Amino acid sequence: MDMSILENALALAGTALSVTDKAAGTAEAIKKLFSSDKSPDANEAMSLVNKLAGELTAANVMNVDMSSALKRLSQELKAQDEFEQEKARYQLVTTSHGDMVYKLREEMANGEPMHYVCPACLKKDRMIVFIQGEGDYKHCQVDQSHVYTFNRTEYRSRGNDSFY
Ligand SMILES: [Zn+2]
Repeated sequence: MDMSILENALALAGTALSVTDKAAGTAEAIKKLFSSDKSPDANEAMSLVNKLAGELTAANVMNVDMSSALKRLSQELKAQDEFEQEKARYQLVTTSHGDMVYKLREEMANGEPMHYVCPACLKKDRMIVFIQGEGDYKHCQVDQSHVYTFNRTEYRSRGNDSFY
């Protein structure tokens, strides 16, 4: 998964906590100011109230940022889980000509026709991409340079020797 999404969410959570702590400290200072025996200094009270308002606004903004970061994180985790579940339906096999490909497990076909998926795309991009083609060589649907040899028809053995 994209670790920067997790790191971003955790960093925001840390900042949100310190902003909330600051606001709590300011609120405490206001409380103290009004609970002392002397009548509170109006200027000091006003400046503390403004400070608290600013801190609460910052905390609010942080909350919005954090909730969108958490949403992204949860989407990322869901996508990761879906990919792992999808990947579990395939088994790495070797074609008769030594190429490694992923093959749909029969017991997990869920009614889908038997097919192969591209190991290069699966490893590199975490994508399930079909391998298709009718002949001896089949290729990936996304990148035509991902070619896999399933068979090598021996034309010579079909009695075409006269051709040479
Ligand atoms: Zn591919």
